[in-house]
Amino acid sequence: MKVLVPIKRVIDYNVKVRVKADKTGVEIANVKMSMNPFDEISVEEAVRMKEAGKADEIIAVSIGVQQCQETIRTALAMGADRGIHIKTDEDIEPLAVAKLLKALVEKESPELVILGKQAIDDDSNQTGQKLAALLGWAQGTFASKIDLQNGKAEITREVDSGLEIMEVNLPAIVTVDLRLNEPRYASLPNIMKAKKKPIDEFSIAELGIDATSRLEILSVEAPKQREAGVMVDSVASLVDKLKNEARVI
Ligand code: AMP
Repeated sequence: MKVLVPIKRVIDYNVKVRVKADKTGVEIANVKMSMNPFDEISVEEAVRMKEAGKADEIIAVSIGVQQCQETIRTALAMGADRGIHIKTDEDIEPLAVAKLLKALVEKESPELVILGKQAIDDDSNQTGQKLAALLGWAQGTFASKIDLQNGKAEITREVDSGLEIMEVNLPAIVTVDLRLNEPRYASLPNIMKAKKKPIDEFSIAELGIDATSRLEILSVEAPKQREAGVMVDSVASLVDKLKNEARVI
């Protein structure tokens, strides 16, 4: 079974994001970038499937600037077999990503596509769902457990009332949640081996997809700065402030 794992290059989750002065977006120049954390979980899951003899080949795919190849190399060092880079310098929104992934699915015929439940930069939580709709495939979203057997995938999802367990027929789209697994660190020998693994490159035009943006970002604003707190010297003064200044009691 072939597994396709889309991975996005995003600002590293440890970086304090700064909004650009002209409010058109966030600063990414000289900022540490990494694989979207949910995508590390999907790569890990695909590698575990291969180790368990349930998957034969893992293809990591990233859409974006040239440096996405570093993100793909990370996935290759974790255990993916080969990479595909769809090159573009434009910001690509989830619908266009889903259309490009659909074109790759038609080329590669995977039985499973495992995506992150959301990218931590746009927080869209749309790509997997849109890809499933475009392909007409079953989808299991926010998976906290994936069990493959007899051409089906049993997906466990954490919902408000507890655990929901559903079964989807393959081929299918799965999006992964935080508690599915703990991604491994790539070992040095595997980082070296990853350098020799192939990465195919395509342009958006080569895949024949119209990736024009249908969304316009009007403005990106930083959250309001929190005001400094004050120390109160007694419970009575706290109650007084809550009552007469904050007016919350
Ligand atoms: P989103 O719908 O933007 O929150 O992203 C959900 C998931 O779609 C991510 O976790 C990735 O698996 C995949 N994805 C989104 N954008 C890209 C991209 N540019 N390249 C590869 N995969 C992507």
